[in-house]
Amino acid sequence: MICVSFDFLLETQGHVVKLLNNSFKKGRIVHTYLFEGARGTAKLDAAYYLAALLLCQSDEKPCLSCEECSKIINRNHPSVILVSPENNVIRKEQADNLGKEFSLKSIDEKSRVFIIDEIDKATSATANSLLKFLEEAGTDNYGVLITENLYNVLPTIRSRSQIVSFSQLRPQIIADKLISLGIEEETSYVLANITNNVEECLEMINEGKILDIIDLTKKMAYSLVKKEKSPLLIFYEDGKFLLSESDKRYHNIFLDLMIAFFSSLLYLTLNQNEKIIFKNIINKIASDVDIPPQRIIGELEKILDYKQKLRYNINIELFYTQMLTAVEL
Ligand SMILES: [Zn+2]
Repeated sequence: MICVSFDFLLETQGHVVKLLNNSFKKGRIVHTYLFEGARGTAKLDAAYYLAALLLCQSDEKPCLSCEECSKIINRNHPSVILVSPENNVIRKEQADNLGKEFSLKSIDEKSRVFIIDEIDKATSATANSLLKFLEEAGTDNYGVLITENLYNVLPTIRSRSQIVSFSQLRPQIIADKLISLGIEEETSYVLANITNNVEECLEMINEGKILDIIDLTKKMAYSLVKKEKSPLLIFYEDGKFLLSESDKRYHNIFLDLMIAFFSSLLYLTLNQNEKIIFKNIINKIASDVDIPPQRIIGELEKILDYKQKLRYNINIELFYTQMLTAVEL
């Protein structure tokens, strides 16, 4: 059973919780909210939090323990309806069904809350249907629309909603969360710096490849400084799996990690140790590093240029051969 947990929301989006609490206390909850922010920023949790504020039966709302709150937390409250895209699209029938459901008077006169996840996936026919429904929805009906891409949401929807922006998570928060879930410390820092989202990190770990890519980067980083083996040789020993990888995301991740390594090296030479991401590997090689910052920046720029090339249709083997021959310390 999927449960809602408000811990992460309270921990990371205090300003949103405060806004909702204050609006509720002052009787200023609006009928349509548009929650916008990056993936993994607890927007859906916040929608359920708002539902708990509106439906909780205790004096201190939301108590998170009364019958109403419990049903919301267990995602089985009959007055809270979640609509998500099916096959990546919110269909017109979904909006129409929602409209039908809400046009019936609620049996117990309680507030009702509908949540539409990924509102940007609504076609314009769906959006029109939704807008009509929003205008006709009764005073006790509340809507929360959610999006990761505010600018893909139709302007007519944006203008009829109160937009609430969710903060990007700081890498430190993501790293702490990953560590608390049992992920090794350095891996947690590395992952936290290439995404801004815990779920995505966990998905990547489950898929498996990401740990291999981190390993490959570490070996390459070590060897670049120690000058034991050429990066290209290491790539052919440990990175061959990347050559058959058609998903560009993994190539981007590998380059992001190389960039993170060179940045870590730069921070080391600049004595900004708190910014170092590859802590273990940098510790191991720190005594061998006698490289002027300017040179590290030069190499960093080379990789950034190569990363641009990844956007085009390229021969991936040739790409790596050229890049790994070009990069040196
Ligand atoms: Zn309650």
